[in-house]
Amino acid sequence: MDFYKNAGKNRLISPSECGRINGMKRFFATILFVPILIMTMILAGCQTSPFVERSYFAMDTVMTVKYAGDESYLAEIGEILSDLDDTLSTTKKTSLISRLNESGDPITDPNVISIVRKSLEYAKKTEGAFDPTVYPLVKLWGFTTDSPAVPTDEEIAAALQKVGYDKIAVSDSVTTTGAQLDLGGIAKGYATEKLKEYLAEKGVKDALINLGGNVYAMGKKNGVDWQIAVKDPLSENYVGVLSLSDRAVVTSGLYERFFEKDGKKYGHILDPKTGKPVENDFLSVTVVGKNATKCDAFSTALFVMGKEKAISFALKNKIDVLFVTTDGIVITANLEKIFTPSSGYASAKKTVIVW
Ligand code: AMP
Ligand code: MG
Repeated sequence: MDFYKNAGKNRLISPSECGRINGMKRFFATILFVPILIMTMILAGCQTSPFVERSYFAMDTVMTVKYAGDESYLAEIGEILSDLDDTLSTTKKTSLISRLNESGDPITDPNVISIVRKSLEYAKKTEGAFDPTVYPLVKLWGFTTDSPAVPTDEEIAAALQKVGYDKIAVSDSVTTTGAQLDLGGIAKGYATEKLKEYLAEKGVKDALINLGGNVYAMGKKNGVDWQIAVKDPLSENYVGVLSLSDRAVVTSGLYERFFEKDGKKYGHILDPKTGKPVENDFLSVTVVGKNATKCDAFSTALFVMGKEKAISFALKNKIDVLFVTTDGIVITANLEKIFTPSSGYASAKKTVIVW
């Protein structure tokens, strides 16, 4: 207190004393100022997000990619996504897949060979619950058009004749015998893997790739695990948040694309056995794992299987899942440890399953 009182008092001093005092002030100011400046820079470095972010539109979806680094990769990420869209789309007439579907042109593109090879692997593994040849059914039900409609049983039976993953062959090209491809159930997962590879090649450690329901959390966000919210299939809120690093979180749900006719909802995930949109007690299926392509194929397949079959498939194949059903949530023990439910789901019935 005395210090402040005295500091406020004026007194006369000599010019030499004045110079000495000013020199001392400069000295003390310097030794105090430099560490304060360094500390401020360190703190600022911790607080400022090192991430750059851009949104893209591809595969009928708004996609967002953010990563720790400068902006130099943003344009190329856009090119990777639009190239894949141009190759794999079933709605773009000029895509390789459309040309194969319309005129049977074999495809030698390495991305198509790789994605079809993986599609066949997952089709076999899921006993056809995942089937990349569902295009005739997708077209028949009009899911790719503005005027979807319920077809007749005869029309469904005729389309089913053209469905079956045994009608595709892959060697140094992809060929089909009377089948047509729809890779919509796996393409975003494959695109995620491509971006992951690209960013890793560029030395990026931390990134969040969000291709609309297909998320990959790479590394960390400012040193802590990423918090990935899983959408509530019944509202605009969230089921909860998964806290993780270096994992894909892929969700399939009918809320993504459906149409209503006579009060009934028809969703875009089709049962390749019946030729009809899946109807079961799933509201959404989320698969978590290291490989986004696999998670994408499995999320679609598990949705088709329905709860009982999907639980035994997940346990047998050691897949981490979070199912939102009409009767609460089902979650694997590994995920339960890193899952925080939202307030809306905190008291929902929860079944924990262990591999
Ligand atoms: P997803 O959102 O990954 O579950 O994929 C759904 C999309 O995959 C649909 O919009 C169709 O294009 C396609 N699809 C529908 N049913 C199946 C199925 N049983 N197997 C493979 N792809 C499917
Ligand atoms: Mg999928």
